[in-house]
Amino acid sequence: MSAKNFIDRELAEQIQSKVGTPCYVYSEAALRESAAKVLAFPNAYGLTARYAMKASPNSNILRLFASMGLHFDASSGYEVRRAIAAGIEPQRISLSTQELPEDFDSLVESGISVNICSISQLKRYGAALPGGKVGLRFNPGLGSGGTQRTNVGGPASSFGIWHEQLDEVKQLVEKYDLDVFRIHSHIGSGSDPEVWIRVVSMNLDLVDAFPSVTHLNLGGGYKVGRVEGEKTTDLQVIGKKMKVEFEEFANRTGRKIHLEVEPGTYLVANCTSILSRVQDETATGESGYKFLKLDTGMTDNTRPSMYGAQHPMWVLPADDSKRGEEDYIVVGHCCESGDILTPAPGDPEALSPRRLTEARLGDYFVIGGAGAYCSSMSSKNYNSFPESAEVLVREGGRVAVIRERQPLEQIWANEVAVL
Ligand SMILES: *Cc1c(COP(=O)(O)O)cnc(C)c1O
Repeated sequence: MSAKNFIDRELAEQIQSKVGTPCYVYSEAALRESAAKVLAFPNAYGLTARYAMKASPNSNILRLFASMGLHFDASSGYEVRRAIAAGIEPQRISLSTQELPEDFDSLVESGISVNICSISQLKRYGAALPGGKVGLRFNPGLGSGGTQRTNVGGPASSFGIWHEQLDEVKQLVEKYDLDVFRIHSHIGSGSDPEVWIRVVSMNLDLVDAFPSVTHLNLGGGYKVGRVEGEKTTDLQVIGKKMKVEFEEFANRTGRKIHLEVEPGTYLVANCTSILSRVQDETATGESGYKFLKLDTGMTDNTRPSMYGAQHPMWVLPADDSKRGEEDYIVVGHCCESGDILTPAPGDPEALSPRRLTEARLGDYFVIGGAGAYCSSMSSKNYNSFPESAEVLVREGGRVAVIRERQPLEQIWANEVAVL
């Protein structure tokens, strides 16, 4: 399955007249559809489905998902505060972070739960909140990601407590009288379903090692196909396989473990497109390329230049003239040779021409599959391009602005003039 274009010329014109381009365009219908799929995740003894909010944290998205029954995974103390500010109850927020905030104890007292991700975090937590309830994030020793940069399990990854440190963990848990209620692991984004299933049984071994554990959180990382040829994980298929593992565990130990999953990408990736315009073109001769230059780029989507990620793209002609097709290299507006939107798959250094509808200056240009780690992970304000606007296309088709374009002065608002 790949992303579909849900923006036609009429909608593009409407958005253009409201907030201009570039603009992130979220589809409420698509967001609801993917949330419903995650909430239907097969499980043996109960499910808590969380949204990994770092994928796309606009408060409207958080509230939409909360209203459907999702809980949340935060990656930093700041994300916790952002979710609370959006109106999310602290009881629905779980924090798994590389940097435990100074004030984690007051966040816990407000109602959030924490997955401890290192030995030092465990010591700090125990010292501040002896006798407290806690989750433990382990690196099970095996990882899988769409790319090396999104693989967060195995010996080359710093995420979670290394599984061989179990004895030290147990000693600290005893020392501080902690109540370990959850085991957590997240092995990478874009991981293979087969690897994922193997990790489930490794995690159940960890659950075995802590008799107090009632919840197993298996993280996110479900593969989503954005372009033709890329596969989307079928949650029903992996969920059913996993359910059997939970049932066998219960038969063996008498413990009925509650399942938590926390996808980011799966919930949002294909629910958002970037609406931009073709603002220039250039060609580099016989042995060269035809380039289309957009009014967006790495300022809105760094994934192609970071990972060689593939996004579907569509030219929406702004007039009714007859068009053929052309092979283009699509580039962003930054003064940076890496600002390329059509790299070769998995290789940000190489150019890969894309066959598209012949484009003219002023045409609309849609980049699909831009819901996960685009708005949230942009190289915002590079070249002093202001942060883009965001709109939500409501179920009835109405366009609601959910973020205004950043006013230029805001870019330097925190500078202190000493000269
Ligand atoms: C990023 C992250 C996720 C979500 O990963 P996706 O690949 O977007 O599904 C889930 N859990 C944790 C702890 C994460 O850091």
